[in-house]
Amino acid sequence: MSSLNLKNIFKVYPSGVTAVTDFNLDIEDKEFIVFVGPSGCGKSTTLRMIAGLEEITSGELYIDGTLVNNVAPKDRDIAMVFQNYALYPHMTVYDNMAFGLKLRKMPKDQIDQRVKEAARILGIEMYLSRKPKALSGGQRQRVALGRAIVREPKVFLLDEPLSNLDAKLRSQMRTEITKLHNRLATTFIYVTHDQIEAMTMGTRIVVMKDGFMQQVDTPINLYDYPINQFVAGFIGTPQMNFFSGKLTGTKAKVYVEFGKEKVLLPKDKVKLICNLEKYLNTDREIIFGIRPEDVSDEEIAIQDEKNGVIEVKVDVVEALGSETLLYCKIRSDDDGEEKSIADDISNLIAKVDSRSKTKRDETVKIALDMAHCHLFDKETEITLLARSEDNKAEIEELQAKREEEEARKAEEAAKKAAEEEAKAAAELEKKMAKLAKKNAKKGIAAPAAPAEEAPAETAEEKPAEDSENK
Ligand code: ADP
Repeated sequence: MSSLNLKNIFKVYPSGVTAVTDFNLDIEDKEFIVFVGPSGCGKSTTLRMIAGLEEITSGELYIDGTLVNNVAPKDRDIAMVFQNYALYPHMTVYDNMAFGLKLRKMPKDQIDQRVKEAARILGIEMYLSRKPKALSGGQRQRVALGRAIVREPKVFLLDEPLSNLDAKLRSQMRTEITKLHNRLATTFIYVTHDQIEAMTMGTRIVVMKDGFMQQVDTPINLYDYPINQFVAGFIGTPQMNFFSGKLTGTKAKVYVEFGKEKVLLPKDKVKLICNLEKYLNTDREIIFGIRPEDVSDEEIAIQDEKNGVIEVKVDVVEALGSETLLYCKIRSDDDGEEKSIADDISNLIAKVDSRSKTKRDETVKIALDMAHCHLFDKETEITLLARSEDNKAEIEELQAKREEEEARKAEEAAKKAAEEEAKAAAELEKKMAKLAKKNAKKGIAAPAAPAEEAPAETAEEKPAEDSENK
């Protein structure tokens, strides 16, 4: 048994940086949990708090039901594997793996048994007498894993363990770690910024951004039902195409209008839109999302998906062998402003069959698989689409909460701006008064105020006002 419960965990570094905000997660025995998100989102900090290497600012961490906030790392029964696997260069593989157990004064025969068993699991039995310098990167990483395995911990924590390896080795080690997890049947928590690692290894994935958990779900649910635009863009390569647009039509026939295009939403999708009346024929903008793999240039798809066909100009064709990527431009109501490629919402990437005949510079029709499109609120970035009718209330609640937050933030920002303005005005007034006083002493007249303001004061009047200000 090795379950973990993280309750309202916060981490504020002494520098004042809030690295993790209100992290809540229940991890069951034998789960493979992946923390994923861009660099600096708080993944490693969370992992290090679980390991006990970083103090928890507030909140509670339980391992197997026991509160461990104040338990020393060595007593948490956890093993950690780092990106920088730091093997002892002067020791053999065997000794590297046995070292931790020797320190714990484990009997020699038991150590021998554990090291050999771990070496067998990892397929490194033949390297036991070698020193690390005589091993490849992948073999060294396996030794680092072996060092963790021999401790037979309750929980394995892995912090970007594959990022030092080349792409081919990384994909090989990915499957090895998955196999290892199945074999050891222990709880794994794995940190990575690589969404492919997360999707292929995790039984559940925690997507993080700026210290906040965005969504916790199975890989396939993250892909199919991203809770917001960030998760939608983070999961999947190339990333989902996004277009600003509006919902128009009637409740029975809802269209998405973006650029110069108008596509019809399937009825099944319309049923799942939360607060449809807020968006339908109103000024409230939405983000229309479609994954590159849900775009097709095949005639049959264009015939089938008559209501989701748009016209694009193909800029670049990338033939990758197993598939072809088309980098296109949609017909947009462009304002003519120069935009960076990343910001240009008229860009569309299509992942099409490698036998596609579409060529660069062609203007072609493409079909959007509208059954798999996504819709987000442009302001809050939260999805408009529930997973099912039962899930609608949950999304609507989240949306309302975010709207409240946004309103509160806007109010706070306005209040702060007004305060700053008042402070600046007061300071200016103080400075002016000081200057006037100085000038009065020297017998110089105060500068004339602009015509629409108070009439110009004379030097004689000034001292009297100054004494009031004091
Ligand atoms: P990730 O693992 O997702 O890349 P980290 O958990 O390492 O992110 O960092 C989260 C945030 O906390 C970042 O803004 C980072 O700069 C900050 N941070 C990390 N370690 C420290 C530290 N020791 N002192 C102050 N700030 C830190």
